[in-house]
Amino acid sequence: MDRVFHDGESLLAGMIARRMRRVTYSCAFCGEDNEVFVDPSGGRRQVFTEDCTVCCRPNLITLTIEDDGEVLLDAAQEYEA
Ligand SMILES: [Zn+2]
Repeated sequence: MDRVFHDGESLLAGMIARRMRRVTYSCAFCGEDNEVFVDPSGGRRQVFTEDCTVCCRPNLITLTIEDDGEVLLDAAQEYEA
């Protein structure tokens, strides 16, 4: 019994339906932690720019919502060569 399927998944689906989740990423420029809100209605894969709250430089955020509701987030420097 290494995973609880039914309870875990319905709980997660309810969480996603009810409210946006917060995910933390490290700024690609200064490394400080930032929080972004995940809006599941925006799709399974979302790419957007977030300005770092510390250094104000733009992070290109790639966000992927997996089948199990897990959120993967990647932050990159927007004007990378
Ligand atoms: Zn920063």
